[in-house]
Amino acid sequence: MHILVTNDDGVYAPGIFALQSALRRIPGAEITIMAPAENQSAVGHRKTLYDPLRIKQTRLAEGIEAFACSGSPADAIALALLGYVKQPVDIVVSGVNQGANLAQDITYSGTVTAAMEAVLFGVPAIAVSLDSYTEPEFGQAADFAACLVPVVLEKGLPDRTLLNVNVPFGPVRGVRATRQGRRTYHDELVERIDPMGRPYYWIGGGRPTGDVKDVGTDVWAVANGYISVTPIHLDMTSREFLRQMDGWHLEEWQIEAAPGTLGG
Ligand code: MN
Repeated sequence: MHILVTNDDGVYAPGIFALQSALRRIPGAEITIMAPAENQSAVGHRKTLYDPLRIKQTRLAEGIEAFACSGSPADAIALALLGYVKQPVDIVVSGVNQGANLAQDITYSGTVTAAMEAVLFGVPAIAVSLDSYTEPEFGQAADFAACLVPVVLEKGLPDRTLLNVNVPFGPVRGVRATRQGRRTYHDELVERIDPMGRPYYWIGGGRPTGDVKDVGTDVWAVANGYISVTPIHLDMTSREFLRQMDGWHLEEWQIEAAPGTLGG
């Protein structure tokens, strides 16, 4: 069983070390670590097309071998699966991220988009995040990932589907299969002045919150002390709205018509 381990916090982050340690305890597991050299949190599903990518062999604590690459977490997976890693990969596990990746976080998250990249290659993938931005207590999340991997390999995942796992910080009451909840972001535009007197900007603000009362969601589960396991499908089509769009009669539109005269 060959497990490719990655993350978005960077190859030297404590979360990936805890993860690979736990996965190594699965009988028969062989581990390859390929992850960004630097923190690539919230880079989304970025593909590096206009710069070369470089890979450096490195060692983590305890002499553990790893590959540190430039580029995004998705690049790390592509580099590995396109042939840099010779041995076929059975599963990709990404994490353990410092900070939850719930609800609409998933398209920002390098942790989750690394898993998205893997499933595009037809390799099953799990993203694992800890619901703390500060506490480096990754053992519980890593142990849960090590429990989940053999189950995923035995049962399989559907096409273009990954598992997004979020682990509460502190005591865990159990595990729940969940759906995506709703996040509220508190970003604001923060303007500063550089030494030349020119303005520059931060997208700043407090941590995102979420609708913790929406039972059955990832946000609800983690807020209530449950490990949340959300199956994520890469088909993001809004099927409900697609049906409503029948009423737009797009197939009858004449695109040479004057703007504003179509529809209804
Ligand atoms: Mn991160």
